[in-house]
Amino acid sequence: MTEETRLIHMGQAAEPLARTVGPPIQRGSTVLLPDAAALYDDAHHQTYGRQGLAAQAALASALAELENAREVALYPSGLAALTGAMLAVLKAGDEVLVVDTVYKPTRRFCDRVLRRFGVAVRYYDPGLDADEVGRLCTPATRLIVLESPGSLSFEMQDVPAIARMARAHGAFTLIDNTWAAGHLFKPLDHGVDISVQALTKYVGGHSDVFMGSAAARDPQVARALSDGVLDLGWAVAPDDAYLMLRGLRTLAVRLARHGASGLEAARWLQTRPEVSQVLHPALPGAPGHDLWARDYAGTCGLFAFVLAPELSAAAFLDALQVFGLGFSWGGFESLAIDCDPQLKVRATPPEYGGALIRLHIGLENVGDLIADLERGLAAARRG
Ligand SMILES: *Cc1c(COP(=O)(O)O)cnc(C)c1O
Repeated sequence: MTEETRLIHMGQAAEPLARTVGPPIQRGSTVLLPDAAALYDDAHHQTYGRQGLAAQAALASALAELENAREVALYPSGLAALTGAMLAVLKAGDEVLVVDTVYKPTRRFCDRVLRRFGVAVRYYDPGLDADEVGRLCTPATRLIVLESPGSLSFEMQDVPAIARMARAHGAFTLIDNTWAAGHLFKPLDHGVDISVQALTKYVGGHSDVFMGSAAARDPQVARALSDGVLDLGWAVAPDDAYLMLRGLRTLAVRLARHGASGLEAARWLQTRPEVSQVLHPALPGAPGHDLWARDYAGTCGLFAFVLAPELSAAAFLDALQVFGLGFSWGGFESLAIDCDPQLKVRATPPEYGGALIRLHIGLENVGDLIADLERGLAAARRG
């Protein structure tokens, strides 16, 4: 054969591949089938690479074990997992009840896309108990969306009770469980139908890769999710899946450190006159603590606090030297934002009487982080 043809076929991978600790990063759109009969035999052969090859399969199987799920669908971002899972179970004429503290881009999707396709959207207060949410349900209510704690203001919901109530009303439940990273809280064990997380945050852990997952235990819900991925054409890259799997290996040790340092910083903030309130569900006495203590196995490093009235959020943030100013969280580095511009979109914006600052406590030395917070508070005092 000519070199022109040999260039196309030379350098094929050996089979079987040597076995490494991690899965092979198999890149492939085309999958070569062994014979003509296999071409259309989807039941016994993977015939195309879009649904993922070795690395994606290894990640999905690990996440299914983490979430106690039957199946986990992967999406190219956390937001895509939320929107993909909603599209998988909703149809025109349905109604969805969404917690008012929901991640703001999820709200944007509900308002701009779901409504356009004939799905009614109503927002409910995170402080409502299960019976009160139940009273909002109508025969059209198909899905209840939860997020606990809310990722800016940290309200806890009674997830098991709302899941039970939803089931009685014939509605599905979906939770954005990014805060617990699939490790600190197991929504499917508490009756939730779909557990979504932005793997971008703690599972990735290094602020450098996007991905999301939706986990389900019920075979029909799991089927709806995987059909939805097929219908809409989502795909994730093998390199990204590999990085997520690598992140899972250290998830528990990183979360333990994020959580312990976060609680130490939160306790220190509680003692400061520049701080009027600390919103951290793992802090005894803080809002939602009882629900957290009942249902959660630990805490991550994300929480918020309220500056005393009149103190400037910008002065605080601009004085920080260790904390970066940036959205997202779950990486090894500490971050801070002021939340107030994001609270305005809510049906019932909360009133704290001072600026709401969100902190992500990273893996740095906690003494250095507290010194940085002290620097910020001093600058806020000076104004
Ligand atoms: C970041 C985030 C998402 C979205 O994840 P992306 O991967 O950035 O799309 C969803 N929910 C919460 C609570 C988040 O913080």
